[in-house]
Amino acid sequence: MFCVPKHYEDVLDYIMLPAGIINDRVERLARDIFDDFGSQPIIALCVLKGGYKFFTDLIDKLQTLNRNSEKSLPISIDFIRLKSYMNEQSTGQVQILGGDNLKNLSGKNVLIVEDIIDTGNTMRKLLSTLQQYKPNTVKVTSLFVKRTPKSSGYKPDYIGFSIPDKFVVGYALDYNEYFRDLSHVCVINEAGKERFAA
Ligand code: 5GP
Repeated sequence: MFCVPKHYEDVLDYIMLPAGIINDRVERLARDIFDDFGSQPIIALCVLKGGYKFFTDLIDKLQTLNRNSEKSLPISIDFIRLKSYMNEQSTGQVQILGGDNLKNLSGKNVLIVEDIIDTGNTMRKLLSTLQQYKPNTVKVTSLFVKRTPKSSGYKPDYIGFSIPDKFVVGYALDYNEYFRDLSHVCVINEAGKERFAA
């Protein structure tokens, strides 16, 4: 019933969240963030690569609010790249692969924009790393939070969707770098896991 690229047609089990629903939810999240934050400048920190779609859509919607409101929230952007997964499994380690000099975050109000919280370990580690750079405040938004028994109990400040304990792809979330070019958030089937295994 939905359009998916030909190259993924036979490797998807089902669509968990269509792109339109994600878009509407991101719009509402942007409004909640806009309403909560004052007019102090913020640094929006995108966690690459999986967070890039959520990040660009969220920033677009914040800019729209900025254009159409009495209040205005100056936003600068920065990027960080983390890697913790191989196939569907967390490696238990978080690598910081890139990003600007984190010293720029000192004294700033930081909004971390992440794709998904599973156990919460990645975000806990990132938050403790960032504290060394003495930001003024740090808030976290994650588009997805998984309902999983493996959760460390960590909860971000702004949550897009609480989702079942399934490995999801699409809307920039990958499986070994595949499926980022899929608009909807989907669960892949066994054939897909095999075909795109690392
Ligand atoms: P955590 O440390 O919370 O267990 O895992 C967080 C990171 O693992 C996310 O930033 C994301 O890169 C990856 N991850 C966790 N669950 C999924 C999933 O269902 N799909 C994808 N594509 N990545 C996931």
